[in-house]
Amino acid sequence: MRSRLKLSLCALFLGLAFLSACSTPSSGPAKVSAETQPAAEATAASESQPATQPPANLPKPDVNGNHVMQYVKDVVAFGPRPVGSQAHAKLEQYILSKLKGVEVEQDKFTAQTPVGKMPFNNIIAKFPGKKDGIIVVAGHYDTLYNRPDFVGANDAGSSTAVLLELADQFRGKPNDGYSVWLLWTDGEEAFVNWNKNNDNDWGSRQLAHQWQQDGTAKKIKAFLLVDMVGDADLDILKDTMSTPWLSDLVYKAAAKLGYQSHFYQLENGIDDDHIPFSKVGIPVDDIIDFTYGYNNVFWHTPQDTVDKLSPQSLAISTDVVLETIRLLDAR
Ligand SMILES: [Zn+2]
Repeated sequence: MRSRLKLSLCALFLGLAFLSACSTPSSGPAKVSAETQPAAEATAASESQPATQPPANLPKPDVNGNHVMQYVKDVVAFGPRPVGSQAHAKLEQYILSKLKGVEVEQDKFTAQTPVGKMPFNNIIAKFPGKKDGIIVVAGHYDTLYNRPDFVGANDAGSSTAVLLELADQFRGKPNDGYSVWLLWTDGEEAFVNWNKNNDNDWGSRQLAHQWQQDGTAKKIKAFLLVDMVGDADLDILKDTMSTPWLSDLVYKAAAKLGYQSHFYQLENGIDDDHIPFSKVGIPVDDIIDFTYGYNNVFWHTPQDTVDKLSPQSLAISTDVVLETIRLLDAR
């Protein structure tokens, strides 16, 4: 993905100390921007209607971070996992092996890329619910192309692992809420240049188009994207490209669990797998920490390794997704 605003701009504003949205975790108590604060207040104000409870059989936000971390380690052990590689194929089989007994759709296709024709596979695990509508939780599983030095523990080991954990949470249980679809997107990373010739979000662009054509898009109540969510110093930004009400709901979920200090102290516009789905009218939110190491120095470098991640951060990210699903189901 790429950010629309340079984060260094934020650092500059920090020096001027008037843009509260640019506060950092190390700068003392959390300074929440004027935009993010109403998230909690707005919901308090709208509580003139009685709050509905989510269905009792939905998974509760209480995952074991060590379990998620083990998934990250298993995924990283395959080595670099670019589209078209053997390691990528092994990871596909690994994901499918964890989805036994689950309804799985593989959206396989080929596309002409700047490096020639390439195969892609979006993997979708479906957990049917009683309510009419679908909540999609997505994250990419491919890693940087042509970078044998890059194992991608956070990008995209963390998203791959969080989705595997969510599958464990929903597997084999009745679901009285909305259907939940877990989507491992393929080909998020560029082959040559992210910013040129649509060389990005290959899997998402194809699937968003398909879902628009076949009517699925209309049934999707919310599309939650997780990306780079394992950083030990977890700092999920407020993405200005996401759907505001859904971003606010994610913040409400985080606050309800006591994790608000890890959310929305930074604000940025992020181009990522959620954008193609947003373009076809689906409410989207990108849950992403784009300050991976000081000034994002570990991003897309050989330093993106398991030791930079923590079980706590992986648990927080997974739990906030689970709580957001509960809030969506209680609406
Ligand atoms: Zn990346």
